[in-house]
Amino acid sequence: MKAVFLQEPKKYSVDEIEKPHVGENDMLVKIAYCGICTLEQRLYTGDRKIYYPIIPGHEASGIIEEIGAKVISHHKAGDHVALDLVNRCHICPACLSGNSNMCENRFKKGQRVLGAFSEYMLVRPDQAHVIPAELPLEKACFAEPVACCIRSLKKVELGLGDTVVIIGAGPMGMMHLKTALVMGARVYVSDIDKARLADAKKMGADEVFDSSDMAKFIEEIKARTNGRGAERCIVTSPAKAAMEAAAGLIADEGRINVYTSYDDKPSLPMDLNTLHRKEVLITGSEGRSEEDFYRATKLISFNKIDVGDIISKIYSIDKIEEATELALSGKAYRVLLKM
Ligand SMILES: [Zn+2]
Ligand SMILES: [Zn+2]
Repeated sequence: MKAVFLQEPKKYSVDEIEKPHVGENDMLVKIAYCGICTLEQRLYTGDRKIYYPIIPGHEASGIIEEIGAKVISHHKAGDHVALDLVNRCHICPACLSGNSNMCENRFKKGQRVLGAFSEYMLVRPDQAHVIPAELPLEKACFAEPVACCIRSLKKVELGLGDTVVIIGAGPMGMMHLKTALVMGARVYVSDIDKARLADAKKMGADEVFDSSDMAKFIEEIKARTNGRGAERCIVTSPAKAAMEAAAGLIADEGRINVYTSYDDKPSLPMDLNTLHRKEVLITGSEGRSEEDFYRATKLISFNKIDVGDIISKIYSIDKIEEATELALSGKAYRVLLKM
């Protein structure tokens, strides 16, 4: 079978390797599609490092081919699945308190990490969420990023009828938009790229805002909220101005989630007295728990969220370099690999 190895930053090889043998407690999945997420892009550029060589890929869908003899679960060979490719030990304090996205053992050495840029891979039963056979497999691999949006919107306790501003109309901004709409919010999206704003409008945003003039943008949000500001805000852009805008447009008792990661380590653009007086809550979110993943799988399976318009291009596994360069170019939403 073929697999993509990242040998070092900016150096992939597509190698022919032996198909894995299913262990007693594993399942063998034939991978169908895998998204090239920010993590894979950062691994490629060298901004993030796990180990070398590594088979990247964590936004994957596929079909179960074989099930180990000691697996106790509802899975059957032939089931279509969305894969939750993170390690959760189920016994650390984070796992036991419902926050398995923060599992203390998720990056322990010797475990399988990522691995879906490959024609086949072994998974544990708790990593494979069954989806309907009618759901196109290229859509099923979005269960992971949608799950991260669910986590993010749960962190700010998004309520029915709340106004949420999503700053940044990249792929994760768009997936936040779709998720927040399903959760019953009025959703505003801002960006400095007019073409992306037009796309956000097509994807259902109640209104879109050009944030290149920050003072005007904040004024526009206040004008639509009786001068209060937005109740919820999600920052999906690592630009410093994005967080500054969030601090300016948030209502009293509002909640801001820092969804993006940063290469530098900027500080909060809000003084402590304002934080105290406004009762603003600023939080972050990282990944998703298994509950978030389960709910994302259902939203996509029930067609409550359609991700079709976020798929910019699909490449074959041999075109991994070209695919990654497009993902990195900023000219695409999600680029997928077809195995
Ligand atoms: Zn991802
Ligand atoms: Zn754990």
